[in-house]
Amino acid sequence: MRSTIPAVLRHAAQTHGDHPALVTDDGVLSHRALHARVQEVATDLVRHGLAPGEHVVVWGPNSAQWAVAALAVTYAGGVLVPANSRYTGHEVADLVQRTRAGVVWLADGFLGRTQRADLLDAGPLPSLRTLGDLATLELHSHGDDGGAAPRTDVTPAEVEARADAVGPDDVADVLFTSGTTGRSKGAMSAHRQSLEAARTWAELGGVRQDDRYLVVNPFFHSFGYKIGILVGLLTGATLYPVATFDVGETLSLIERERITLFPGAPTLYQSLLTAPERAGRDLSSLRLAVTGAAMVPVVLIERMRAPEPEGLGIDQVVTAFGMTEAVVVTMCRQGDDAETVATTCGRAVPGMEVRIDGAGTPGEEGELLVRGGQVMLGYLDDAEATAAAVDVEGWLHTGDVGRLDEHGNLTITDRLKDMYISGGFNVYPAEVEQVLLRCPGVADVAVVGVPDERMGEIGRAFVVGTATEADVLAFARDHLANFKVPRHVTHLETLPRNLGGKVLKTDLRSL
Ligand code: ATP
Ligand code: MG
Repeated sequence: MRSTIPAVLRHAAQTHGDHPALVTDDGVLSHRALHARVQEVATDLVRHGLAPGEHVVVWGPNSAQWAVAALAVTYAGGVLVPANSRYTGHEVADLVQRTRAGVVWLADGFLGRTQRADLLDAGPLPSLRTLGDLATLELHSHGDDGGAAPRTDVTPAEVEARADAVGPDDVADVLFTSGTTGRSKGAMSAHRQSLEAARTWAELGGVRQDDRYLVVNPFFHSFGYKIGILVGLLTGATLYPVATFDVGETLSLIERERITLFPGAPTLYQSLLTAPERAGRDLSSLRLAVTGAAMVPVVLIERMRAPEPEGLGIDQVVTAFGMTEAVVVTMCRQGDDAETVATTCGRAVPGMEVRIDGAGTPGEEGELLVRGGQVMLGYLDDAEATAAAVDVEGWLHTGDVGRLDEHGNLTITDRLKDMYISGGFNVYPAEVEQVLLRCPGVADVAVVGVPDERMGEIGRAFVVGTATEADVLAFARDHLANFKVPRHVTHLETLPRNLGGKVLKTDLRSL
């Protein structure tokens, strides 16, 4: 089988036929029905003049339609550009302009009329010919398509020929980074790369056809699209897309549908652990939990494993490191000891290499460099940023600081950008946060460096919970070297986070 998304979709329809591919409140779509629906929507795209290689934006919360639209784009030879479902109409207009997308699918019901109006008003959007409604998956003209009527002579054979013409090295998608440290960047991946990410994750996670996979991770992020939708196609597993995360509903869905896989950001498990609705729920179907994408509190891993009712009672907890530009980089293996899972994000996955810039021996800290088959083709339209990120030997400079142990297991210390220097010493906020999360009365915490005349920079801790400033500082002094102890504590109701569960430190710095 060719390493292209259309080929994998066809193969899934042949191999998994009537087995459910997607289950939502609207019903069940088998693998065969999914393929048929994708063919229809791809036909509509071709009728409306989608050119091979043309960008199509899909903008909406997780749904079966999202998956169909995304797969139809690649089936018709286009390039998928998912938009963050939290974006405003203006932000999507900017994305459409930056990516010169020809078509936008949007979930009108969910996003509301204002966003559609904002998107259209934000013009000029010269290349935008048609808008699609995600709910119906029909393309509508918005009156700006130069009068070109949709073709009526498109045959199934022409659409299949489009799918056949897609090559493994063609660009399949442009996924945007989370924008945690600045403006989001669009990372381009080829078909074989996106599939390699999915295949790697599926193999290491032992994903099978009979898995029931709850996808809370947003489809617009690699964690929801490549590690969700594409994993479903490769393995035949059944996906349960979740549009908006609600603890109570998620818990009942896990119990009712006997969900086996439920990967997510650390915050997701945190909310399950503290939910009162958890009492009496049978979560024993969960066989594997995979977490990462943000700093993973060691105490969280311990609690996920601990037997119910204190913990979640999940035997297999696995941590992983990934990023939009390189997708699945390191991952723990099932069976790794508890200590490795709690304190590292595993070792390089097949096809990927990791090394620490400048480190001679295990344990030395430095910038994490990554190389291998999944490293992006580059940032869209930004040769300069690409050259700054990927060096001539193919090493991607991640901007994360970490260390490798003697077995090659990676521990992320923090982001280079979040590190601050206090009185001449480097402080990694993530280390301080790990400690403060153990302080009684601290439910959540984030630390940032703020300017200080005497020390250069000092730490400021933002704390959620009942612990007082004195409690937090006393705990910090007991457990941390003096230069790492934050000087100020500010209480917040919640920490500002993006949909991937990452704390928006830029927002905190400006508070
Ligand atoms: P931007 O690049 O726009 O600032 P971002 O880096 O947050 O945003 P993503 O590509 O979604 O965008 O996230 C990748 C980053 O997430 C990694 O570079 C790393 O900082 C963090 N990350 C991923 N996995 C882990 C992990 N297991 N532990 C700690 N951090 C992680
Ligand atoms: Mg990044």
